[in-house]
Amino acid sequence: MAQEYPLLKKNFAVPGIRDIDVAIEHGNYSALKKAVTELSPDDVVDLIKTANLQGRGGAWFSAGMKWSFMPKEPDGDSVLCVNCDESEPGTFKDRALIEKDPHLCLEGAIIAAYAIRARVAYVYIRGEMTAGIKLMDEAIEQAREKGFIGKNVCGTEVEIQVHIHPGAGAYICGEETGLMESLEGKRAYPRNKPPFPAQYGAFGRPTTVNNLGTLCYVPMIVNNGAEWFTSIGYEPFPGTLIYGVSGHVNKPGNYECTMDITLRELIELAGGVRDGHEIKAVIPGGSSMPVLTADELDIRMAPDSFKPRGDVQSGLGSAGVIVMDETVSMPETLLNMMKFYVHESCGQCTPCREGCKWIHDVVERMVDGRGTSDDVDLLEQILVNVGDIDKFEFNKTICLFGVSFGWPATVMVRKFRHEFEALISKNAGGLPVVA
Ligand code: SF4
Repeated sequence: MAQEYPLLKKNFAVPGIRDIDVAIEHGNYSALKKAVTELSPDDVVDLIKTANLQGRGGAWFSAGMKWSFMPKEPDGDSVLCVNCDESEPGTFKDRALIEKDPHLCLEGAIIAAYAIRARVAYVYIRGEMTAGIKLMDEAIEQAREKGFIGKNVCGTEVEIQVHIHPGAGAYICGEETGLMESLEGKRAYPRNKPPFPAQYGAFGRPTTVNNLGTLCYVPMIVNNGAEWFTSIGYEPFPGTLIYGVSGHVNKPGNYECTMDITLRELIELAGGVRDGHEIKAVIPGGSSMPVLTADELDIRMAPDSFKPRGDVQSGLGSAGVIVMDETVSMPETLLNMMKFYVHESCGQCTPCREGCKWIHDVVERMVDGRGTSDDVDLLEQILVNVGDIDKFEFNKTICLFGVSFGWPATVMVRKFRHEFEALISKNAGGLPVVA
Protein backbone atom coordinates (compact mmCIF):
# COMPACT_ATOMS: atom_id res chain seq x y z
CA MET A 1 0.00 0.00 0.00
CA ALA A 2 1.22 3.52 -0.78
CA GLN A 3 2.74 5.43 2.09
CA GLU A 4 2.99 9.06 3.09
CA TYR A 5 6.33 10.82 2.57
CA PRO A 6 6.38 13.59 5.17
CA LEU A 7 8.60 16.54 4.33
CA LEU A 8 6.31 19.43 5.19
CA LYS A 9 4.42 17.39 7.79
CA LYS A 10 7.64 16.10 9.38
CA ASN A 11 7.34 18.18 12.54
CA PHE A 12 3.55 18.42 12.74
CA ALA A 13 3.41 16.10 15.75
CA VAL A 14 6.40 17.57 17.63
CA PRO A 15 5.12 18.91 20.96
CA GLY A 16 5.56 22.68 21.25
CA ILE A 17 6.84 23.14 17.66
CA ARG A 18 5.04 26.48 17.48
CA ASP A 19 7.46 27.82 20.08
CA ILE A 20 10.54 29.25 18.40
CA ASP A 21 13.01 27.57 20.78
CA VAL A 22 11.54 24.15 20.03
CA ALA A 23 11.46 25.03 16.33
CA ILE A 24 15.16 26.01 16.39
CA GLU A 25 16.01 22.74 18.19
CA HIS A 26 14.36 20.94 15.28
CA GLY A 27 16.40 22.79 12.68
CA ASN A 28 14.21 25.79 11.85
CA TYR A 29 16.01 29.00 10.84
CA SER A 30 19.30 27.18 10.07
CA ALA A 31 18.51 27.54 6.36
CA LEU A 32 17.78 31.24 6.80
CA LYS A 33 21.15 31.76 8.49
CA LYS A 34 22.87 29.84 5.70
CA ALA A 35 21.05 31.80 3.00
CA VAL A 36 21.78 35.30 4.29
CA THR A 37 25.38 34.60 5.40
CA GLU A 38 26.66 32.20 2.73
CA LEU A 39 24.50 32.71 -0.36
CA SER A 40 23.68 35.71 -2.51
CA PRO A 41 20.03 36.29 -3.51
CA ASP A 42 20.89 35.03 -7.01
CA ASP A 43 22.44 31.87 -5.53
CA VAL A 44 19.14 31.15 -3.76
CA VAL A 45 17.17 31.77 -6.96
CA ASP A 46 19.46 29.43 -8.91
CA LEU A 47 19.22 26.78 -6.21
CA ILE A 48 15.42 26.81 -6.25
CA LYS A 49 15.42 26.78 -10.06
CA THR A 50 17.77 23.78 -10.12
CA ALA A 51 15.65 22.01 -7.54
CA ASN A 52 12.74 22.43 -9.98
CA LEU A 53 10.41 23.53 -7.19
CA GLN A 54 7.03 24.29 -8.76
CA GLY A 55 4.18 26.32 -7.33
CA ARG A 56 1.83 24.25 -5.21
CA GLY A 57 -1.03 26.76 -5.47
CA GLY A 58 -2.30 25.14 -8.66
CA ALA A 59 -0.32 26.79 -11.47
CA TRP A 60 2.77 24.53 -11.19
CA PHE A 61 5.08 27.26 -12.47
CA SER A 62 8.79 27.13 -11.53
CA ALA A 63 9.24 29.12 -8.31
CA GLY A 64 12.88 29.94 -9.10
CA MET A 65 11.93 31.14 -12.59
CA LYS A 66 9.23 33.37 -11.12
CA TRP A 67 11.75 34.86 -8.69
CA SER A 68 14.20 35.47 -11.54
CA PHE A 69 11.73 37.88 -13.18
CA MET A 70 12.17 40.32 -10.29
CA PRO A 71 14.49 43.32 -10.68
CA LYS A 72 18.09 42.81 -9.61
CA GLU A 73 18.77 46.34 -8.34
CA PRO A 74 19.20 46.25 -4.56
CA ASP A 75 16.87 49.19 -3.90
CA GLY A 76 14.60 47.23 -1.56
CA ASP A 77 11.54 48.31 -3.46
CA SER A 78 10.27 44.80 -4.19
CA VAL A 79 7.46 43.03 -2.35
CA LEU A 80 6.76 39.41 -1.50
CA CYS A 81 3.15 38.33 -1.03
CA VAL A 82 2.58 34.97 0.59
CA ASN A 83 -0.73 33.61 -0.60
CA CYS A 84 -2.49 31.79 2.21
CA ASP A 85 -6.00 32.78 1.21
CA GLU A 86 -6.86 29.18 0.34
CA SER A 87 -10.46 29.67 -0.71
CA GLU A 88 -10.73 26.73 -3.10
CA PRO A 89 -13.45 24.35 -1.84
CA GLY A 90 -11.86 21.04 -0.91
CA THR A 91 -8.40 22.46 -0.12
CA PHE A 92 -7.05 22.81 3.41
CA LYS A 93 -3.29 22.18 3.30
CA ASP A 94 -2.14 25.76 3.93
CA ARG A 95 -4.37 26.01 6.98
CA ALA A 96 -2.70 22.90 8.39
CA LEU A 97 0.79 24.22 7.63
CA ILE A 98 0.21 27.55 9.26
CA GLU A 99 -1.45 26.06 12.32
CA LYS A 100 0.89 23.09 12.80
CA ASP A 101 4.28 24.52 11.85
CA PRO A 102 4.14 28.33 11.58
CA HIS A 103 7.93 28.76 11.85
CA LEU A 104 8.50 26.56 8.80
CA CYS A 105 6.11 28.83 6.86
CA LEU A 106 7.77 31.96 8.17
CA GLU A 107 11.32 30.81 7.45
CA GLY A 108 10.35 29.93 3.87
CA ALA A 109 8.81 33.39 3.43
CA ILE A 110 11.87 35.22 4.81
CA ILE A 111 14.26 33.30 2.55
CA ALA A 112 12.02 33.98 -0.45
CA ALA A 113 11.97 37.71 0.41
CA TYR A 114 15.78 37.64 0.58
CA ALA A 115 16.01 35.89 -2.80
CA ILE A 116 13.90 38.51 -4.58
CA ARG A 117 15.55 41.39 -2.67
CA ALA A 118 12.29 42.40 -0.98
CA ARG A 119 12.42 44.31 2.27
CA VAL A 120 8.82 43.52 3.05
CA ALA A 121 6.72 40.36 2.94
CA TYR A 122 2.97 40.31 3.44
CA VAL A 123 1.44 37.05 4.59
CA TYR A 124 -2.11 37.22 3.25
CA ILE A 125 -4.12 34.76 5.34
CA ARG A 126 -7.75 33.89 4.74
CA GLY A 127 -9.76 35.93 7.25
CA GLU A 128 -11.68 32.94 8.55
CA MET A 129 -8.44 31.24 9.62
CA THR A 130 -8.44 33.06 12.94
CA ALA A 131 -6.27 30.44 14.66
CA GLY A 132 -3.69 30.60 11.86
CA ILE A 133 -3.61 34.42 11.97
CA LYS A 134 -2.98 34.38 15.72
CA LEU A 135 -0.31 31.70 15.49
CA MET A 136 1.50 33.43 12.64
CA ASP A 137 1.34 36.71 14.53
CA GLU A 138 3.01 35.05 17.52
CA ALA A 139 5.60 33.38 15.28
CA ILE A 140 6.50 36.73 13.69
CA GLU A 141 6.91 38.33 17.10
CA GLN A 142 9.14 35.48 18.32
CA ALA A 143 11.23 35.59 15.11
CA ARG A 144 11.65 39.36 15.46
CA GLU A 145 12.93 38.94 19.02
CA LYS A 146 15.47 36.37 17.82
CA GLY A 147 16.71 38.66 15.06
CA PHE A 148 15.32 36.63 12.14
CA ILE A 149 13.08 39.51 11.06
CA GLY A 150 13.89 43.22 11.15
CA LYS A 151 16.68 45.56 10.12
CA ASN A 152 19.57 43.13 10.55
CA VAL A 153 18.43 39.60 9.75
CA CYS A 154 20.75 37.14 11.53
CA GLY A 155 23.16 39.99 12.28
CA THR A 156 23.68 40.92 8.60
CA GLU A 157 22.87 44.10 6.69
CA VAL A 158 19.78 42.41 5.25
CA GLU A 159 16.46 44.02 6.25
CA ILE A 160 13.20 42.07 5.97
CA GLN A 161 9.93 43.01 7.63
CA VAL A 162 6.97 40.62 7.71
CA HIS A 163 3.35 41.65 8.16
CA ILE A 164 0.10 39.70 8.27
CA HIS A 165 -2.87 40.81 6.21
CA PRO A 166 -6.13 39.01 7.06
CA GLY A 167 -8.08 38.12 3.90
CA ALA A 168 -11.16 40.05 2.90
CA GLY A 169 -13.52 37.08 2.76
CA ALA A 170 -13.86 36.45 -0.97
CA TYR A 171 -12.69 33.58 -3.16
CA ILE A 172 -11.18 36.00 -5.62
CA CYS A 173 -8.81 37.40 -2.97
CA GLY A 174 -6.74 34.26 -3.63
CA GLU A 175 -6.19 35.20 -7.29
CA GLU A 176 -2.78 36.87 -7.28
CA THR A 177 -3.80 40.25 -8.71
CA GLY A 178 -7.04 40.29 -6.71
CA LEU A 179 -4.93 39.60 -3.64
CA MET A 180 -2.75 42.62 -4.36
CA GLU A 181 -5.78 44.88 -4.84
CA SER A 182 -7.16 43.62 -1.53
CA LEU A 183 -3.80 44.22 0.13
CA GLU A 184 -3.97 47.80 -1.09
CA GLY A 185 -7.31 48.18 0.68
CA LYS A 186 -9.49 47.97 -2.42
CA ARG A 187 -12.07 45.48 -3.67
CA ALA A 188 -10.31 42.37 -4.91
CA TYR A 189 -10.89 42.98 -8.61
CA PRO A 190 -8.39 40.91 -10.59
CA ARG A 191 -6.20 42.98 -12.93
CA ASN A 192 -5.55 42.49 -16.61
CA LYS A 193 -2.07 41.17 -17.40
CA PRO A 194 0.31 42.56 -18.59
CA PRO A 195 1.69 44.31 -16.66
CA PHE A 196 2.68 41.25 -14.64
CA PRO A 197 3.21 41.50 -10.89
CA ALA A 198 7.00 41.38 -11.28
CA GLN A 199 6.72 44.65 -13.24
CA TYR A 200 3.82 46.34 -11.47
CA GLY A 201 2.48 44.57 -8.40
CA ALA A 202 1.33 45.53 -4.92
CA PHE A 203 1.45 49.32 -4.38
CA GLY A 204 2.88 49.61 -7.88
CA ARG A 205 6.08 47.83 -6.86
CA PRO A 206 7.68 44.72 -8.38
CA THR A 207 5.98 41.84 -6.61
CA THR A 208 6.15 38.08 -6.38
CA VAL A 209 3.13 36.17 -5.13
CA ASN A 210 3.90 32.65 -3.88
CA ASN A 211 1.64 30.05 -2.38
CA LEU A 212 2.49 29.36 1.25
CA GLY A 213 2.88 25.61 0.64
CA THR A 214 5.49 26.27 -2.06
CA LEU A 215 7.62 28.39 0.27
CA CYS A 216 7.64 25.69 2.98
CA TYR A 217 9.96 23.59 0.77
CA VAL A 218 12.52 26.40 0.46
CA PRO A 219 14.31 25.97 3.83
CA MET A 220 14.83 22.23 3.30
CA ILE A 221 16.17 22.80 -0.22
CA VAL A 222 18.62 25.43 1.08
CA ASN A 223 19.81 23.01 3.78
CA ASN A 224 19.91 19.80 1.74
CA GLY A 225 20.58 21.00 -1.79
CA ALA A 226 18.79 20.84 -5.12
CA GLU A 227 19.98 17.31 -5.89
CA TRP A 228 18.43 15.99 -2.69
CA PHE A 229 15.08 17.52 -3.67
CA THR A 230 15.13 16.31 -7.27
CA SER A 231 15.90 12.78 -6.06
CA ILE A 232 12.56 12.61 -4.24
CA GLY A 233 9.47 11.30 -5.96
CA TYR A 234 8.38 11.52 -9.55
CA GLU A 235 11.09 12.95 -11.82
CA PRO A 236 9.42 15.88 -13.62
CA PHE A 237 7.67 16.99 -10.41
CA PRO A 238 10.10 16.39 -7.56
CA GLY A 239 9.33 16.57 -3.87
CA THR A 240 5.99 15.87 -2.33
CA LEU A 241 2.51 17.29 -2.38
CA ILE A 242 -0.04 17.56 0.39
CA TYR A 243 -3.31 16.17 -0.96
CA GLY A 244 -6.40 17.17 1.00
CA VAL A 245 -8.80 14.24 0.78
CA SER A 246 -12.40 14.96 1.79
CA GLY A 247 -15.91 13.72 1.16
CA HIS A 248 -17.02 10.12 1.40
CA VAL A 249 -13.82 8.51 2.69
CA ASN A 250 -13.29 6.87 6.07
CA LYS A 251 -10.31 9.02 7.09
CA PRO A 252 -10.50 12.46 5.48
CA GLY A 253 -7.42 14.62 5.97
CA ASN A 254 -4.15 15.90 4.52
CA TYR A 255 -1.88 13.22 3.06
CA GLU A 256 1.64 14.13 1.96
CA CYS A 257 2.91 11.87 -0.82
CA THR A 258 5.15 11.91 -3.85
CA MET A 259 3.37 12.57 -7.11
CA ASP A 260 3.72 9.06 -8.49
CA ILE A 261 0.77 8.02 -6.31
CA THR A 262 -2.43 7.13 -8.12
CA LEU A 263 -5.83 8.47 -7.19
CA ARG A 264 -6.92 4.97 -6.17
CA GLU A 265 -3.93 4.61 -3.81
CA LEU A 266 -4.59 8.02 -2.33
CA ILE A 267 -8.20 7.12 -1.57
CA GLU A 268 -6.99 3.87 0.03
CA LEU A 269 -4.59 5.88 2.17
CA ALA A 270 -7.58 7.92 3.30
CA GLY A 271 -9.28 4.74 4.51
CA GLY A 272 -11.19 4.03 1.30
CA VAL A 273 -14.72 5.01 0.41
CA ARG A 274 -17.06 4.91 3.38
CA ASP A 275 -18.17 1.42 4.30
CA GLY A 276 -20.90 -0.17 2.24
CA HIS A 277 -20.66 2.37 -0.57
CA GLU A 278 -19.04 2.72 -3.99
CA ILE A 279 -17.18 5.58 -5.56
CA LYS A 280 -19.21 7.44 -8.12
CA ALA A 281 -17.04 10.45 -8.89
CA VAL A 282 -13.95 12.28 -7.66
CA ILE A 283 -12.90 15.89 -8.07
CA PRO A 284 -9.08 15.69 -8.14
CA GLY A 285 -7.92 19.25 -7.47
CA GLY A 286 -10.45 21.48 -5.74
CA SER A 287 -13.88 22.41 -7.04
CA SER A 288 -12.52 24.28 -10.07
CA MET A 289 -11.16 21.06 -11.60
CA PRO A 290 -13.39 18.81 -13.73
CA VAL A 291 -14.76 15.65 -12.17
CA LEU A 292 -13.40 12.14 -12.78
CA THR A 293 -15.51 8.98 -12.84
CA ALA A 294 -14.95 5.70 -10.99
CA ASP A 295 -13.16 4.19 -14.00
CA GLU A 296 -10.49 6.91 -13.95
CA LEU A 297 -9.05 6.16 -10.50
CA ASP A 298 -5.75 4.73 -11.76
CA ILE A 299 -4.58 8.11 -12.90
CA ARG A 300 -1.24 9.29 -11.46
CA MET A 301 -1.86 12.37 -9.31
CA ALA A 302 0.73 14.57 -11.00
CA PRO A 303 0.27 17.68 -13.16
CA ASP A 304 1.29 15.90 -16.37
CA SER A 305 -1.56 13.42 -16.17
CA PHE A 306 -3.99 16.15 -17.09
CA LYS A 307 -4.50 18.34 -20.18
CA PRO A 308 -2.71 20.06 -21.79
CA ARG A 309 0.31 17.95 -20.72
CA GLY A 310 -1.62 14.69 -20.36
CA ASP A 311 -4.78 13.16 -21.78
CA VAL A 312 -7.36 13.63 -19.05
CA GLN A 313 -9.63 16.66 -19.22
CA SER A 314 -9.14 17.85 -15.65
CA GLY A 315 -6.32 19.17 -13.48
CA LEU A 316 -4.38 18.64 -10.28
CA GLY A 317 -5.06 22.24 -9.23
CA SER A 318 -4.61 22.68 -5.52
CA ALA A 319 -4.79 18.90 -4.86
CA GLY A 320 -8.08 19.08 -3.00
CA VAL A 321 -9.51 15.61 -3.67
CA ILE A 322 -13.28 15.41 -3.13
CA VAL A 323 -14.66 11.86 -3.13
CA MET A 324 -18.35 11.27 -3.85
CA ASP A 325 -20.18 7.97 -3.52
CA GLU A 326 -23.29 6.67 -5.29
CA THR A 327 -25.64 8.60 -3.00
CA VAL A 328 -24.62 11.89 -4.59
CA SER A 329 -26.79 13.56 -7.24
CA MET A 330 -24.54 15.26 -9.79
CA PRO A 331 -27.11 17.93 -10.81
CA GLU A 332 -27.51 18.86 -7.14
CA THR A 333 -23.72 18.91 -6.75
CA LEU A 334 -23.43 21.25 -9.72
CA LEU A 335 -26.18 23.45 -8.32
CA ASN A 336 -24.38 23.66 -5.00
CA MET A 337 -21.13 24.59 -6.73
CA MET A 338 -22.82 27.20 -8.89
CA LYS A 339 -24.39 28.86 -5.83
CA PHE A 340 -20.86 29.35 -4.60
CA TYR A 341 -19.53 30.69 -7.91
CA VAL A 342 -22.44 33.10 -8.43
CA HIS A 343 -21.73 34.51 -5.01
CA GLU A 344 -17.98 34.75 -5.61
CA SER A 345 -17.75 36.17 -9.16
CA CYS A 346 -16.38 39.70 -8.86
CA GLY A 347 -18.63 40.76 -11.75
CA GLN A 348 -16.09 42.56 -13.97
CA CYS A 349 -16.42 40.23 -17.00
CA THR A 350 -19.72 39.54 -18.73
CA PRO A 351 -19.08 35.84 -19.60
CA CYS A 352 -18.26 35.11 -15.96
CA ARG A 353 -20.85 37.30 -14.25
CA GLU A 354 -23.74 36.36 -16.53
CA GLY A 355 -22.53 32.85 -17.35
CA CYS A 356 -22.44 31.54 -13.83
CA LYS A 357 -25.84 33.04 -13.02
CA TRP A 358 -27.34 31.45 -16.15
CA ILE A 359 -25.83 28.06 -15.39
CA HIS A 360 -27.10 28.32 -11.83
CA ASP A 361 -30.62 29.27 -12.89
CA VAL A 362 -30.91 26.55 -15.53
CA VAL A 363 -29.61 23.82 -13.20
CA GLU A 364 -31.81 25.10 -10.40
CA ARG A 365 -34.97 24.84 -12.46
CA MET A 366 -33.98 21.34 -13.58
CA VAL A 367 -33.45 20.24 -9.98
CA ASP A 368 -36.72 21.89 -8.97
CA GLY A 369 -38.61 19.94 -11.64
CA ARG A 370 -39.15 22.94 -13.93
CA GLY A 371 -36.59 21.99 -16.59
CA THR A 372 -37.27 21.74 -20.31
CA SER A 373 -36.08 19.26 -22.88
CA ASP A 374 -33.68 21.89 -24.30
CA ASP A 375 -31.97 22.63 -21.02
CA VAL A 376 -29.07 20.19 -21.19
CA ASP A 377 -28.01 21.56 -24.59
CA LEU A 378 -28.58 25.10 -23.36
CA LEU A 379 -26.12 24.46 -20.51
CA GLU A 380 -23.45 23.36 -22.98
CA GLN A 381 -24.04 26.47 -25.16
CA ILE A 382 -23.68 28.84 -22.24
CA LEU A 383 -20.55 27.06 -21.06
CA VAL A 384 -18.88 27.36 -24.48
CA ASN A 385 -19.39 31.11 -24.28
CA VAL A 386 -17.53 31.25 -20.97
CA GLY A 387 -14.56 29.30 -22.35
CA ASP A 388 -14.52 26.26 -24.64
CA ILE A 389 -12.78 23.45 -22.79
CA ASP A 390 -12.11 21.51 -26.01
CA LYS A 391 -10.16 24.47 -27.41
CA PHE A 392 -8.47 25.08 -24.06
CA GLU A 393 -9.94 28.58 -24.26
CA PHE A 394 -9.44 30.63 -21.12
CA ASN A 395 -8.96 34.17 -22.43
CA LYS A 396 -12.53 35.46 -22.50
CA THR A 397 -12.26 36.79 -18.96
CA ILE A 398 -9.74 38.78 -16.94
CA CYS A 399 -8.89 35.92 -14.60
CA LEU A 400 -9.32 32.16 -14.62
CA PHE A 401 -12.42 32.23 -12.44
CA GLY A 402 -14.60 31.94 -15.56
CA VAL A 403 -13.12 28.61 -16.59
CA SER A 404 -12.93 27.56 -12.94
CA PHE A 405 -16.65 27.02 -13.01
CA GLY A 406 -17.10 26.68 -16.80
CA TRP A 407 -14.83 23.71 -17.41
CA PRO A 408 -15.92 21.62 -14.40
CA ALA A 409 -19.57 22.30 -15.21
CA THR A 410 -19.04 21.26 -18.87
CA VAL A 411 -17.42 17.98 -17.87
CA MET A 412 -20.02 17.27 -15.20
CA VAL A 413 -22.86 17.76 -17.69
CA ARG A 414 -21.09 15.60 -20.28
CA LYS A 415 -20.12 12.73 -17.99
CA PHE A 416 -23.43 12.64 -16.12
CA ARG A 417 -25.75 13.82 -18.90
CA HIS A 418 -28.10 10.94 -18.15
CA GLU A 419 -28.73 12.35 -14.65
CA PHE A 420 -29.57 15.78 -16.01
CA GLU A 421 -31.81 14.27 -18.69
CA ALA A 422 -33.54 12.10 -16.11
CA LEU A 423 -34.64 15.25 -14.29
CA ILE A 424 -36.32 16.45 -17.50
CA SER A 425 -38.09 13.18 -18.23
CA LYS A 426 -39.37 13.11 -14.65
CA ASN A 427 -40.92 16.45 -15.42
CA ALA A 428 -42.95 15.07 -18.35
CA GLY A 429 -41.54 17.37 -20.98
CA GLY A 430 -40.96 20.38 -18.79
CA LEU A 431 -42.33 23.87 -18.78
CA PRO A 432 -41.58 26.74 -21.14
CA VAL A 433 -38.21 28.40 -20.64
CA VAL A 434 -38.45 31.48 -18.43
CA ALA A 435 -34.91 32.64 -17.71
FE1 SF4 B 1 -14.11 38.77 -11.93
FE2 SF4 B 1 -14.99 36.51 -13.04
FE3 SF4 B 1 -13.78 38.32 -14.51
FE4 SF4 B 1 -12.36 36.95 -12.74
S1 SF4 B 1 -13.40 36.12 -14.54
S2 SF4 B 1 -12.25 39.13 -13.11
S3 SF4 B 1 -13.93 36.72 -11.11
S4 SF4 B 1 -15.76 38.56 -13.43
